[in-house]
Amino acid sequence: MERTLAIIKPDAVAAQHVGAILQRIEGAGFEIRAMRLVRLSRADAEGFYAVHRERPFFGSLTAFMSSGPAVALALEAPEAIRKWRELMGATDPAKADAGTIRRDFGGSIEHNATHGSDAPETAAFELAYFFAGVELAGT
Ligand code: ATP
Ligand code: MG
Repeated sequence: MERTLAIIKPDAVAAQHVGAILQRIEGAGFEIRAMRLVRLSRADAEGFYAVHRERPFFGSLTAFMSSGPAVALALEAPEAIRKWRELMGATDPAKADAGTIRRDFGGSIEHNATHGSDAPETAAFELAYFFAGVELAGT
């Protein structure tokens, strides 16, 4: 079993797509191990996306991610990291495969509905960023 950190981003929460996205998560066989509605401060978003600090879109990305409530989830499945990225689709919704979450719910390369960890090391960092050990223990 593997765990990954998923976020339903502020654009998808504002558009009331939380239920539809959770349905796809459960439909794909993931176990939800933790889940919380969060409102990131700008500093929280900057810390979360620190690896992208030098990218030209860092400012607008962190403004967007702190613009409204988001839903953070710990998802578990065999190969959860790869499987969740597959279900999300490509970063740019216009390039994402038909039937993927970003294709169906994303509005732009930045406002792309969901986030997923990209490797075991980043998953460990990102899960710890949102969930205390006690929330994940025993589930
Ligand atoms: P995520 O990390 O959110 O799961 P990803 O791994 O597919 O997405 P990254 O390259 O890590 O994509 O970019 C992180 C986030 O930054 C993207 O999900 C998107 O919201 C935003 N982003 C990526 N590229 C661009 C861009 N060229 N212009 C604006 N925003 C971008
Ligand atoms: Mg990424």
